[in-house]
Amino acid sequence: MTESCVFCRIERGELPSDRVYEDDRVIAFRDINPQAPVHVLIIPRKHIASLADLTPGDTELAGHMLRVAQQLAEQLGIRETGYRVLTNCGRDGGQVVFHLHFHLVGGKPLGRFA
Ligand code: AMP
Ligand code: ZN
Repeated sequence: MTESCVFCRIERGELPSDRVYEDDRVIAFRDINPQAPVHVLIIPRKHIASLADLTPGDTELAGHMLRVAQQLAEQLGIRETGYRVLTNCGRDGGQVVFHLHFHLVGGKPLGRFA
């Protein structure tokens, strides 16, 4: 499963990506089809299919991903103007890549989501 997973392949360096951050638990890279001037994906290095597959043991990791989003917002210059962090989950959530990722989107007014 992880052999063919696009984001596992990016994590292993088998596919190119424009990385903006990495540490021992997560990597972050620019979305290939950006929806805003800043559009970055934050993923865990280990394969977790979606938010629905998080386990109690992943709690610290999930919190870390959000902290990385916060730090990247600062690094990429959208801390003051604001941004959105979201994850698509499952069919109705519109998830396309089944390796957990948080989108960090900003750099323009995004409009209301709900
Ligand atoms: P979703 O699963 O709905 O969050 O959508 C997957 C996201 O991953 C989309 O925004 C794609 O543009 C992005 N994406 C897919 N393949 C790549 C890739 N090789 N490098 C960077 N972003 C990608
Ligand atoms: Zn994966």
